[in-house]
Amino acid sequence: MKVLKTKHIGFCFGVKRAIKMVKKEANANEGIVYTIGPIIHNPQMVNILKEKGVIPVDDVSQIKDGVVVFRTHGIKKEEEEYVKKSCLRFIDTTCPFVKRVRKHAMYLKKQGYTVVIVGDKNHPEVKSVLSYLDNDGIVLQEPIRLDEKKVGVVSQTTLDKDAFVNIVKELIGGVEELRIYNTICESTEIRQKEAVVLAGRVDMMLVVGGKNSANTTKLYRVVHKVQPNTHHIETEDDINPEWFKDTDTVGITGGASTPDLIIDIVERRVKNL
Ligand code: SF4
Repeated sequence: MKVLKTKHIGFCFGVKRAIKMVKKEANANEGIVYTIGPIIHNPQMVNILKEKGVIPVDDVSQIKDGVVVFRTHGIKKEEEEYVKKSCLRFIDTTCPFVKRVRKHAMYLKKQGYTVVIVGDKNHPEVKSVLSYLDNDGIVLQEPIRLDEKKVGVVSQTTLDKDAFVNIVKELIGGVEELRIYNTICESTEIRQKEAVVLAGRVDMMLVVGGKNSANTTKLYRVVHKVQPNTHHIETEDDINPEWFKDTDTVGITGGASTPDLIIDIVERRVKNL
């Protein structure tokens, strides 16, 4: 079986940075390391870190001691306030590109714009940005006309560009003044572009990454549009040999939170089929 991979695969800059910081903290052995929610959306990596003593908790008020990690997608303003008020030690692994979304959104609010965050209202990054606006913002996932005077727009970092453009186009119709910050992360865009090109050259695509990972799920959707014979898998265990019956060439790509090791194992498994 011939296997081709995209150039940008495995951890992105933000995830690499976060994992490095958390591992360093865990190795320092200065108490339990807690993350508010999973540090990244990859269950396998989260389990590896658990073995090193990095524990995800859902509710920050459960943390009474140890070190708190502000995760890659950012935490809510009230969670940050709780940690600081409780004088807990913390490390901030929030990706700088996620912080950029927050910074622009806060600036727009200060300038009197109605802030629109284009993204998934249930995603931790969007919830985080909204909390720093004191929940005074609108989250849009579909094109909707808004009749407002001044609207400022930011995007979730992992958004697909076409979805962003469609929503912005619809806003133009009803808004007097529109200010747009394209805060889609470059890493997401590059991966999607490379994966689409590869998808056109192979008989099947495998998109590797957490089923709870927004960027992997979007990557899958984008690739699936070009290559209907595409499967989203988390690990080599999800591979079904039946898929490969009439297949000569397989393309592999991965989300920004997928460890290199998992991709290597998937590649080996496919080559051996
Ligand atoms: S995908 Fe982009 S925004 Fe998200 S963690 Fe990676 S570098 Fe940061």
